[in-house]
Amino acid sequence: MRINIAIDGPSAAGKSTIAKELCKKLGYVHLDTGAMYRCTALKALRKGLAMDDEAGVCRMLEDTVIELTPDGKVFLDGEDVSKAIREDDVSMRASDVSKLQNVRRDLVKRQQEMARAKGFIMDGRDIGTVVLTDAEVKIYMTASARARAMRRYLQNVENGIETSDVETLEAEIKARDEQDMNREFSPLRKADDAIEIDTSDLTIEEVTERIYEIARPFLEAEEAK
Ligand code: C5P
Repeated sequence: MRINIAIDGPSAAGKSTIAKELCKKLGYVHLDTGAMYRCTALKALRKGLAMDDEAGVCRMLEDTVIELTPDGKVFLDGEDVSKAIREDDVSMRASDVSKLQNVRRDLVKRQQEMARAKGFIMDGRDIGTVVLTDAEVKIYMTASARARAMRRYLQNVENGIETSDVETLEAEIKARDEQDMNREFSPLRKADDAIEIDTSDLTIEEVTERIYEIARPFLEAEEAK
């Protein structure tokens, strides 16, 4: 038997990077729920829909297929959008569209269906509080805004994504946090039973190891079943 691990936290805290590392270690599958909000925003942008047009965006989602492959690629209606959804302007639009209650309903349902089989590490903003309230392990990952902006900048450069400078990225990250934490439906917050990890001064290996140690008793208990 397998468990599910939920990782929530503000933008660019390293959730996806750590989830990928842990997946390699455990043979689990990573589900990046942010990519689903990004796909929704990208398609809405392309269709010229306003990000607050709830009925229009929901209708659009009815015939939208979003696929997250085990090797980390993202397909929107069959098109590889792995790079396109990471552009800076899509980030804020994703946050805008994620405020809509019925958009969240649609995507949360898809996420719950995906994780039903167990063996997933899902990262986002509402995984521990809404999507997988029964996840065996819940992590709330934070880091200073400066550290997050610096990481995002280096990640953009490495992946050949057009990027703003670190100061602009920091301002964008803070604005997105503010919006994600203060929205009406499923705002970003730490679940009561989540363990908080500040990754500002930790390496990827250190964070991965820390979560592995937190998960170990649950993994062993499942193995013993
Ligand atoms: O994680 P990422 O930065 O790619 O997410 C993009 C945006 O999608 C976030 O700023 C947030 O507004 C939204 N999101 C969400 N709930 C999730 C994952 C992402 O509202 N579970």
